[in-house]
Amino acid sequence: MDVYACLDCGVDTRDEYYHVLDPLWTEHVGDPQAGMLCVGCLENRVGRELVTADFSSAPVNWFPLKKAPGPRSARIKSRLQSDPGLATIKRVYAAGVLLGENPPDPDGVLS
Ligand SMILES: [Zn+2]
Repeated sequence: MDVYACLDCGVDTRDEYYHVLDPLWTEHVGDPQAGMLCVGCLENRVGRELVTADFSSAPVNWFPLKKAPGPRSARIKSRLQSDPGLATIKRVYAAGVLLGENPPDPDGVLS
């Protein structure tokens, strides 16, 4: 099975590679290693559109990976940027992670 196939609809999720906060994923999906969900199917499970605050400060959300699975969809971009100010805070934190710094985790404070 293709590891990038959406668990619910089977669409290729390479253009919607993201990491949401653990409590959100655990509540609506369960096993962190369960697989991938496209944004639409996770939103169906959650019952609303995803917003910036749902995404962790993991670099994968905020910086293109050298081996990115694919270009990002307009849908994932719009969800990541629904709160531009918070998106900036999370991007700065993610940059610190990439630089090997260890700033306080904003996800515990801002989520
Ligand atoms: Zn799906």
